Amino acid sequence: MKIDFANLTYQYQLYKDEIDEAIQKVLNHGKYIMGPEVGELEEKLCEFTNAKNAVTCSSGTDALLLAMMALDLKPGDEVITTPFTFIATAETIALLGAKPVFVDIDEQTYNINTSKIEEKITNKTKGIISVSLYGQPSDLDEINEFSKRCNLFHIIDGAQSFGATYKGKAEVHYCDIYTTSFFPAKPLGCYGDGGAVLANSDELAQKIRMLRVHGQNKRYHHKYIGLGARLDTIQAAVLLVKLKYYKKDLALRQEVAKKYSKKLKNVKNIILPFVKEDRTSAWAQYSIRALNRDELQEKLKESGIPTVVHYPMPLHMQKCFNYLGYKKGDFPVAEKVSEEIMSLPMNPYLSNDEIDYITQKVAEFAK
Ligand SMILES: *Cc1c(COP(=O)(O)O)cnc(C)c1O
Repeated sequence: MKIDFANLTYQYQLYKDEIDEAIQKVLNHGKYIMGPEVGELEEKLCEFTNAKNAVTCSSGTDALLLAMMALDLKPGDEVITTPFTFIATAETIALLGAKPVFVDIDEQTYNINTSKIEEKITNKTKGIISVSLYGQPSDLDEINEFSKRCNLFHIIDGAQSFGATYKGKAEVHYCDIYTTSFFPAKPLGCYGDGGAVLANSDELAQKIRMLRVHGQNKRYHHKYIGLGARLDTIQAAVLLVKLKYYKKDLALRQEVAKKYSKKLKNVKNIILPFVKEDRTSAWAQYSIRALNRDELQEKLKESGIPTVVHYPMPLHMQKCFNYLGYKKGDFPVAEKVSEEIMSLPMNPYLSNDEIDYITQKVAEFAK
């Protein structure tokens, strides 16, 4: 059997007629930048999450930049975040001249360990970025308790979590700004780069809208130093089609995760994903831990099962962050998990046969 990891081409085939038509419509009307589909998508994103405002943009990375620029992050400021995430979370902090301050992760959820945040707060701390890793929200109430008490901003990097809920609501309702990514392999992906910034504050949303187009409030009149960070109209058109089916896709991902967990429950030598009861995951990834991770990956690959390691090296060990002065041993949980974690194929269309095959092979080779 040969398994497809994210099966994006299958999804395209499924919605091909609608997607082709939507793209063709953009090609014909010719408003390739900020065409009507962009505004329409922003409305639909608000409907989906009950957010007051949604501003689409060019990527999940630019969404983070826009969020921090809107919150006036300045050189020398400190931002607390997790070292166990994609580089963009901390890279954008550093790019704005601020300092990423890492806090180790929780051993069960792999999200930031909230009990360790307080000891990292200094008089330079400006905010916290929590990351909803693999699609699962962090302990948002606890984080908001600190952020309100210490007058910090809280951004949620939801690049992997669009559609996830915390206590029954979308994550945008538990932070100042929620950012997400529409990179093709994310749960809601377009056919290129894309992202969005969601916020309930009208004031922040208005500023983000300006920052997205070179800080202008009127053409050629620039109030802020901004970015060229718009979402292409064609990508918005694709997303409008996919968003219609997204609730269903999320439910199917949830089903796949359930089936995986049921089949792998009694397999020795692996640790399964853990989602807390008061929240739901968008299941960007189904990631397990195995002591013989590298060997297991190799054996699965030989069996036609692709796997990916998210992420092999925590950010405090990355060369680009040498200057921060961290060393191996500073975040033992993140370091251990990075040596054991691997993601199994995850997409809404995995069949029962495929899941049976994958879980049998994992059981056979995990040691
Ligand atoms: C993918 C990802 C990003 C970046 O999104 P892009 O659209 O690729 O720029 C940021 N943070 C996390 C946690 C991600 O997984």
